[in-house]
Amino acid sequence: MLSYRHAYHAGNHADVLKHSVLALILESLQRKHTPYCYIDTHAGAGRYNLASREAVKVGEFRAGIGRVWPHAERPAALAPYFAAIAACNPGVPDELRYYPGSPVVANTFLRAQDRMVVFEQHPTDATLLTKAFARMPQCRVLRGDAFTLLKGFLPPREKRGLVLIDPSYEMKTDYRAVVTLLSEALVRWATGIYMLWYPLLERATADQLLRRIATSGTRKILNIEFGPRAAGAGIGLWGSGLVIVNPPYQLDAQIKKLLPWFGRVMQAEVGAPASVRWLVPE
Ligand code: SAM
Repeated sequence: MLSYRHAYHAGNHADVLKHSVLALILESLQRKHTPYCYIDTHAGAGRYNLASREAVKVGEFRAGIGRVWPHAERPAALAPYFAAIAACNPGVPDELRYYPGSPVVANTFLRAQDRMVVFEQHPTDATLLTKAFARMPQCRVLRGDAFTLLKGFLPPREKRGLVLIDPSYEMKTDYRAVVTLLSEALVRWATGIYMLWYPLLERATADQLLRRIATSGTRKILNIEFGPRAAGAGIGLWGSGLVIVNPPYQLDAQIKKLLPWFGRVMQAEVGAPASVRWLVPE
């Protein structure tokens, strides 16, 4: 049994990057009235109590959303992300008690015509998710292995949408498995938007992952990296990255403006990662 639980990490710098970009993509999907489908391959527990034993044990959120949320200056590009956080804290909009994981962020944007399918392998988190979305017929939760489940849902009948691939990389094999998963998914559904998250723990491992994706034959791939610390061995998660296939128009420009703000507010060190580039152009 794998031991990773997102409750220990919810709201950290990697979540701030991932969920703010996720919210921007979902907002862009709402610009058309036609339905879209959101698929979350590694969904986690959904909602996280930042006062829980797990969250306060390491307290990673304090240097992430703990700095971003109370900041007086709020960039326009963060409005969709902040809306998702506010919706997760009803009645106390300024307080940050609960943090929305990716399926809860996505649920904020779901309209009557849209659909969401989420996979989670951990029994505890899968049960929490199932309960959270039990009364929402548009949301389907499946407990199981994303690497085998995803293909059965592609292409979605809506023909528009986003697949978030966000494993924990507890197993080294995940670095290869995500590239295969992405390539096979693109064969089934070439026009979908895909967002893959990866950790920055070792530069060489991340570069190898990016090289494999860049040489897979897929085009229109955006790559974003951000972190509060300069690269270093043995210092834990110093940053994270996103690979986005078929990103919405102008997402790159929005993120380019946002990263310096993140750097200032999350007190990034000199030399910490902050980049937006086309891994493969259109
Ligand atoms: N996407 C979530 C978010 O942004 O709020 C966080 C997900 S966390 C990084 C990764 C999750 O993947 C964990 O909850 C873990 O239990 C789950 N997981 C690990 N291997 C899996 C697999 N093969 N299939 C589905 N879920 C898996």
